[in-house]
Amino acid sequence: MLNVGIVGLPNVGKSTLFTALTKKQVDCANFPFCTIEPNVGTVSVPDERIAKLAAISGTTKLIPTAIEFVDIAGLVKGAHKGEGLGNKFLANIRETDMIVHVVRAFPDPNVVHVDGSIDPKRDVEVIELELAMADLSTVEKMLSTVTGKMKAGKNADLVAQASALEKLQIALLKGELARGVEFTDDEAMFMKTMSLLTAKPILYVVNVDEADATRADWVSPLGPTRMAIPISVKIEAEIAGLSAEDAKMFLADIGLKESGLDRVIRECYKLLNLITYFTTGVQETRAWTILVGTKAPQAAAVIHTDFEKNFIRAEVISYMDFIACNGEAGARDTGKLRIEGKEYTMQDGDVCHFRVNV
Ligand code: GDP
Repeated sequence: MLNVGIVGLPNVGKSTLFTALTKKQVDCANFPFCTIEPNVGTVSVPDERIAKLAAISGTTKLIPTAIEFVDIAGLVKGAHKGEGLGNKFLANIRETDMIVHVVRAFPDPNVVHVDGSIDPKRDVEVIELELAMADLSTVEKMLSTVTGKMKAGKNADLVAQASALEKLQIALLKGELARGVEFTDDEAMFMKTMSLLTAKPILYVVNVDEADATRADWVSPLGPTRMAIPISVKIEAEIAGLSAEDAKMFLADIGLKESGLDRVIRECYKLLNLITYFTTGVQETRAWTILVGTKAPQAAAVIHTDFEKNFIRAEVISYMDFIACNGEAGARDTGKLRIEGKEYTMQDGDVCHFRVNV
């Protein structure tokens, strides 16, 4: 399961955010790889389409799709030199697929700021410098290995590796992130194998004062190049304990359409390049996660690994057609049910039946 590491300086609201998220913990019985650890939460991805499909199919068993959040506490200035629990935490981040970087913008004088003042941009730079320095050390070690090998004889792979590493070294020395560096195709392929910290997608969650959480004209203090969303972790912690209906009323009262947590989860899903397809019937309606660009047999393998090699065809109805035709029978009658083969690229919202050899 894809996972998201929550990072940030101490006292910015990471644990509060994580605790609120874990209130959305899925039923682990439905997820064979669900991890049960105090700092890991497997959280359902909000998607109102599931309930609509279930209503048409006449089932009450709804299974959402999920992503995992990992609370990576303890990142402080100097982490790359082993300050705090530095190396251990950097290693934890390395294992994640993307980063949610929580930044403090709420002013509460009762909550100490490690650097004495509220300055979201500075805080982001502190953490990013740690990540960049950790990457720099990885890159420099690899560069010396690669240049060593090149002395014994050059080949095209080594040349691409060395040039990618040199580009990375220059950027990281300036404190820039690996993800901003431009590569040729060969360099990019090599770069993907390195799992650098600063190459991962980042969503910045700016923990704002309660009043700012509802402002339509909120401007990110982190500038236009960083994908940031404002949420009040304090509000989220309050709503997390409420029933779905009460939470909705509470949000409507303060002028919000949805909870900030829902938005965080959905943005992560998008940044990870994930889309959803559905299976639905009288027994259950279930959402399944795949990467953008996945072909039908590999999508079927998410349900059961054997489905890939035994794949015959997929019967697909797009979500909008399924709803408009009031279900599979209606879609079939109006020619909206498509028969797709092995080369079909799955689309977000596809409602599928996979036909497989058994
Ligand atoms: P962490 O060190 O980043 O995990 O931060 P915590 O989640 O433990 O929060 C640190 C302190 O800040 C706690 O006392 C929280 O109650 C408080 N806190 C977190 N978020 C907010 C917020 O949005 N507003 C206010 N006023 N306090 C908050």
